[in-house]
Amino acid sequence: MPHSPLRLILDGQALVSNWRWLDSRSGSAACGAAVKADGYGLGAAQIVRRLAGAGCRDFFVATWAEADTVIDTLGGASLSVLHGVAGEDIASAAASPARPVLNTPRQVGLWKQAAPGRPCDVMIDTGIGRLGLSPYEARSGLLDGLTIDTLMSHLARADEQSEMNSRQRAAFAALAEAIPARRYSLANSAGICLGADYAFGLTRPGLALYGGIPRGEASGHIRQVVRVEAQVVQRKPIPAGSSVGYGATFTADRERELAILNIGYADGYLRGFSGRGRAFFEGAVLPVAGRVSMDLTAVLADDAPNLAEGEWVELDYALPAAAAQSGLSQYELLTTLGRRHRKEWR
Ligand SMILES: *Cc1c(COP(=O)(O)O)cnc(C)c1O
Repeated sequence: MPHSPLRLILDGQALVSNWRWLDSRSGSAACGAAVKADGYGLGAAQIVRRLAGAGCRDFFVATWAEADTVIDTLGGASLSVLHGVAGEDIASAAASPARPVLNTPRQVGLWKQAAPGRPCDVMIDTGIGRLGLSPYEARSGLLDGLTIDTLMSHLARADEQSEMNSRQRAAFAALAEAIPARRYSLANSAGICLGADYAFGLTRPGLALYGGIPRGEASGHIRQVVRVEAQVVQRKPIPAGSSVGYGATFTADRERELAILNIGYADGYLRGFSGRGRAFFEGAVLPVAGRVSMDLTAVLADDAPNLAEGEWVELDYALPAAAAQSGLSQYELLTTLGRRHRKEWR
């Protein structure tokens, strides 16, 4: 394999420790793991293997194509496909060990016809206005004859202090009384932080597994999982008055030292970090100078005299801080990574 000048350093112990914390916060409910979008960019198959090894028994992906990438690593754990079934999926879905999460009357009809009696999950929209049957549809008899493993709903504002949370919780609790299922599930990462009332029988964290801090309750407990490192392509001094990057948005006030890093927006280091991000080398902080470009980013290296061509620097990618620097959400920061980086689990 050719050498890659970019790498993600992934901390397997932090991943498992985050899952264990979320599991303990889930009280008596089981704690699953959302591994859609290739495990939020970190590599779904590795995440499933590691969390299944730690005792996680329930995984969630978005599509059947994603299900294919993890089906062989489940080791007997269950897998749910959040987008349900389209006509194109139904034959392979009916033969798969994974379960669809049925979201629409048409999906319910397809499943009843193609896989009568086979377990499925069902999503009800209690207010997020995204996927799911309305509570009215769910109570209309439409679900009669299905074998529902997990009945679920999804919170819209769990990362905020909002009375919408308790309203959605109450609506879901009422549905759980009315609709028979093996178990019930409402909370994502932020929902787990809201307390045991929100856990029902199964929780579905994603973000916090991967080091995201959805709410204050998680800080101090959730550990950083991913570190982003890039190699220095060039180091050079620039004279006072010279500019850096497209648009010449940075001008050197005096002679400065620049290090040009092998990372840019095509690597998921998006332009929001222009003039605002930073990198670390041997304890020195290297601020981003000027605009991030497609494959390159310049940092000021005056405080890192030993930083030479070919050295590796770490980008500041602690998720809450990087979100504040870049104006991106912690979710976007994770899911834009991973395409060009070599992944090293440590
Ligand atoms: C993505 C997703 C989750 C996980 O959410 P996080 O906020 O990342 O914890 C849980 N449930 C559903 C339905 C999802 O789509």
